[in-house]
Amino acid sequence: MFQKILIANRGEIAVRILRACKMLGIKTVAVHSVIDESLMHVRFADESVCIGPNRAADSYLNVASILSAAELTGCDALHPGVGFLSENAKFAKMVNGHGIKFIGPDPLHLSEMGDKILAKKKMMEYGVPVVKGSDGDVQSVDAAKRIAEEIGYPVLFKAASGGGGKGMKVAESISEIEDAFRLAKSEARVNFGDDTIYMERYLKNPRHIEIQIIADSFGNVVHLGERDCSIQRNHQKLIEESPCTALSPDQRQKIGEIAVRAVEKIGYVGVGTLEFLFEDGEFFFMEMNTRLQVEHGVSEELTGIDIVSEQIRIAAGERLSFGQSDIRFSGHVMEFRINAEDSETFLPSPGRIEELFFPGGNGIRVDSHIYSEYVIPPFYDSLIAKLMVRADSRQECLSKARCALDELVIDGISTTAELYKKLLRNTDMIRGDVSIHWLEDDWKNYDT
Ligand code: ADP
Repeated sequence: MFQKILIANRGEIAVRILRACKMLGIKTVAVHSVIDESLMHVRFADESVCIGPNRAADSYLNVASILSAAELTGCDALHPGVGFLSENAKFAKMVNGHGIKFIGPDPLHLSEMGDKILAKKKMMEYGVPVVKGSDGDVQSVDAAKRIAEEIGYPVLFKAASGGGGKGMKVAESISEIEDAFRLAKSEARVNFGDDTIYMERYLKNPRHIEIQIIADSFGNVVHLGERDCSIQRNHQKLIEESPCTALSPDQRQKIGEIAVRAVEKIGYVGVGTLEFLFEDGEFFFMEMNTRLQVEHGVSEELTGIDIVSEQIRIAAGERLSFGQSDIRFSGHVMEFRINAEDSETFLPSPGRIEELFFPGGNGIRVDSHIYSEYVIPPFYDSLIAKLMVRADSRQECLSKARCALDELVIDGISTTAELYKKLLRNTDMIRGDVSIHWLEDDWKNYDT
């Protein structure tokens, strides 16, 4: 097992990883920007290193600084968390090259799955159903028009190196192709430094369903069931739940098996997630996230398996201690992402937290790094807490979530909790009758 792990991240996910390290008896090194000096992950770690000024590009994305910190503190492994450098194959290679184990998959798999066009091709080869789309990158407006005719409108332009919902543009008809093509290309260039784009049929009423997998280096692969992440805004997930109300036991088993088989064929090692759209009983692969995900806690609560500890153990070369048939799925879990954002406009709401109280009780889990008087800086992601609720049934889970959200106090800033209180009174939401477009198209009708 590792002796000392550097956690190359901040906020709630850094705290989450620290907890797993402590449980495994591993020493920890936190890194931080200047403004994050008194953040909880810094206080909880055994050692800490300031890696640069506040802008993420100067600190949490500063490869030289992070590598020096790991070397100087004598770490034998590095956990990248989520976002930042977690899917950066070059970084992973450099970390491994310094004799420090990158806690994540082989850099080859990071680059293969990071190229969404290649990822789709590979998955097709391995028998995974994918969304109809262009056969590779789309280089001109004329080509885009031809492909749109073939796959049918509406179509979606996506960035091959994309992430976080950026660089995606819909064209409803031929007259919108040119604008959508150019916008997607320039957004892709600005955000990812790569203007390669591809096209997919734009599904009108799908759910986002993803499968969590864990694979060790001995060829053992298991899945921890699905998460329904359909409640989104701007392609950003807000609420996740498991099990998904729309899946039959047969569909669940089938997609789990498809995901496991694909991961076996890739030879992937570590934790990962296969993301699908699900419409009219059919699954369509979108992408694979080759890292821990923000919403991993949903599956942890459902199965009792500590995904982060398993991830660390696997990176250290240990064997999975359970097989698929040992995994028990019990009850219902929902996660609410509490973002420091206005609940109507979703504009960031940085500032000082005047008063703070987290809900508790049976089946309530809050993963967070904030505290009273903490000033949320404007430099980073707006996620400040994740509220997870577990109950025997979905109905009970919804009631518990309403109580928990009523108990939650985060004074001084606006948060998305206000939106969730309203959503939980909506009949579609109560029935679980939602799609990825539901929140943007219908949420104002929450009182119906
Ligand atoms: P990212 O890496 O940016 O998260 P994804 O490929 O995972 O990109 O897509 C993000 C979100 O965009 C999905 O959760 C879904 O809401 C939407 N989306 C992606 N592809 C399609 C599609 N073909 N049709 C409709 N919506 C889509």
